[in-house]
Order: sequence, then C-alpha cells, then structure tokens
Amino acid sequence: MAEKRDYYEVLGVDRDADQKTIKKAYRKLAMKYHPDVNKEDPDAEEKFKEISEAYGVLSDESKKQQYDQFGHAGMGGFSQEDIFSNINFEDIFGGFGGSGGFGSIFDLFGFGGGHNSPRNGPMPGNDIGQKLNLTLEEVSTGVSKEISVTHRKVCPTCNGTRAAPGSKVNTCGNCNGSGQVRQVQNTPLGQFATVSECPVCHGEGEVIEEKCYTCHGTGLTKVTEKLTIDVPAGVETGTRLRVGGEGDDSPNGGPSGNLYVTINVLKNDLFTREGQDLYYELPISYVQACLGDEVEVPTIDGQKEKLTIPPGTQTETVFKIRNKGLKHVKWSGVGNMYVKVHMVTPKTLSSKQTEILKEFAKESGEEIVEVKQGFFDKVKETLNK
Ligand SMILES: [Zn+2]
Ligand SMILES: [Zn+2]
Repeated sequence: MAEKRDYYEVLGVDRDADQKTIKKAYRKLAMKYHPDVNKEDPDAEEKFKEISEAYGVLSDESKKQQYDQFGHAGMGGFSQEDIFSNINFEDIFGGFGGSGGFGSIFDLFGFGGGHNSPRNGPMPGNDIGQKLNLTLEEVSTGVSKEISVTHRKVCPTCNGTRAAPGSKVNTCGNCNGSGQVRQVQNTPLGQFATVSECPVCHGEGEVIEEKCYTCHGTGLTKVTEKLTIDVPAGVETGTRLRVGGEGDDSPNGGPSGNLYVTINVLKNDLFTREGQDLYYELPISYVQACLGDEVEVPTIDGQKEKLTIPPGTQTETVFKIRNKGLKHVKWSGVGNMYVKVHMVTPKTLSSKQTEILKEFAKESGEEIVEVKQGFFDKVKETLNK
C-alpha cells in the first residue's frame, strides 16, 4: 500500500486551519469526488475515502490533537469506520442543490448498518507525557533516573469490568450490543444512512446495573508509581523518550498507551552547549597571553585537561580540545570542547608592578602619559558641574 498522505495535505488546508475552513475544504472535495457523481472514475471512491478519513480525524478535536502530536502513528487505535462515523454527512451535503441523489455512504464503503460490528473494538490507552530535568553532566554520561508517574490503570476493584462487585453487565437492548444505531433519512438528495452512537449505552454495547464505586464505572483508576528510566548520553532539551506501555491502560482490553518523557537540560555554570560541542570561557592574564602558559581546564566528565597557551596569544582566541564534548544520542561520534580565552586587565597594581610596566613601556618605545588613580572620577565631576 502507498504511504498515507498527510491529512492536512489531503484536504489542502494549513495546519492551523480552523474547523470552518476544514469543513469547507472537505465539502468542496466531497462534492468533487463523491462516487455517485464520478461513476466512470474508478479512483473516485478511493479518493473519497481518503478525504473522508482526513476530515473524520481533523474535524474531531481529540483525534486531531492526537494526529497533530503523533501523526498517522497516533491513529492506530481507530478503524476507518470509527473515523467515518464522526462525519455528519447530512450536514456536509445539506447545502448541495440539484438532483442526483447519493446512495448510502456507509453501504458504499461496505460497512455499518447491516452487520453488527461493535463500534468500540479494543482501544489503546491514552499516551501521556512528562518533563524530566537533567544536568549537563547527566547528559554527558547518560543516566538512570527514577521518576514518579501518574497514569490510569485497570481498576483493581472491578478488574476493568466497570461493574460493582456482584452487579451484572447486560447487553444493551437498544442496539443489541452493537453500540451503534443506524438511521436512514430521506432527503431531497436521496437516502442517507447515518450510523451514530447508541444513546442508551453510549457506544459500549453493554449496560451496567451498578457502576463500580472505585472507578465510577470507567474501569480505570489513577495510580502514581515510581519508574526507572534509562536516559542515553547526548540527549537535548526537547528530546522525547518513549516508555512503552506506561501510559494509561486501555478501558476495554486494548494495548496500554505509552509514556513520553520530554527532556529539559538545565543550564550549566561552566559550559555552554552547541549540539554535541561544549564551550568554556577561560580568563588569562596579560602575562600569560604574552609569555604563554600551561594551564588546566575542567572537562564535563569532572576531570581536567592540559591546555597550552602559546606565547603571543590574542584575547578571544579559541582552542579546540578534541573529543571532550558530548556523545551523540544516535551515532558514535563525540563532540569537541572549545576553550575561548579572555585577557583580563588587572584593576589594581602594586607600585613595583607599576614600575616594571613603565620599564616595559620604555623598552617597547611606548610613550605613556601617566594617569593617576581616580582621574576619571574627577573628569566625571567636572562634566556634571
Ligand atoms: Zn472499578
Ligand atoms: Zn446500546
């Protein structure tokens, strides 16, 4: 099967389109591709299904949200029928004038109505999200972290049956357990068959005599648990780790949802990060800059690394220390560490230091006009008068 196209692309709308725009776009395409008006085009039916699926998802706020977050992968729990049953076809085609008449859209798609397919097959549990703060040191080594997660798990009182102990669960008499009711409406355009959720059992196909008092009939209860998760080295702020099955449990025996842990890397006092590279700022004296020096700089692993500052180093020069950056989260490369030196001018000098510097200036042929300490304060005072 061909790769599924993006739903927004299918409907030709922007990702931030509002419901009105989405509906308008779908109506326009539905008119164009409705198989009843495209009898000679064999692709029209597929096309109509494609746009209807896109609209079924994007017109439903919760499905849309799930799609925006996880793409097609997030739609795994919904059958095409689930998605189509959201669409109010009468509303869509209501404004379509003229003759012609559409057949039953559900019959067209070969489901609904006749056969009793319960609307709620096993649904996956909800995915949940959580943020995790890490230090740069933890990012550098990778870390096992204990986190506290609150998710909805199968209720221990009713074991997920949603019924109070001793209470019975009966098949819904209104829909005979299918969870849906089919209505055929006669409209100027022809017959519409619409399938909607059974109002008595709300699509469950079952009616509970007495709801479980622990979970209030939802089958799930909130539990807070401690989990240990292994964070690989090299993650970044925004990296999302998937912890399979640690989202909410399914309300009806489907697979559990996943927990997504989003990483936030805390600011570091010594290093700034750019991708896998680390930057360190090193203050040096004028003498070190002139004469050169052997110094030690801290590295992210808590060790020290020797760095040679050559004689005549200019301020803001950047030195590279290879492979002392961060590991890449996916591949085996390691970033570098960059050391940027800043020459720091001493704010005060002893009289001997002053004498030596004057001597130095003389030797360099530099003529210096001596400025007494506090001179600038006097200048400021004068300016303020
Ligand atoms: Zn319960
Ligand atoms: Zn029912």
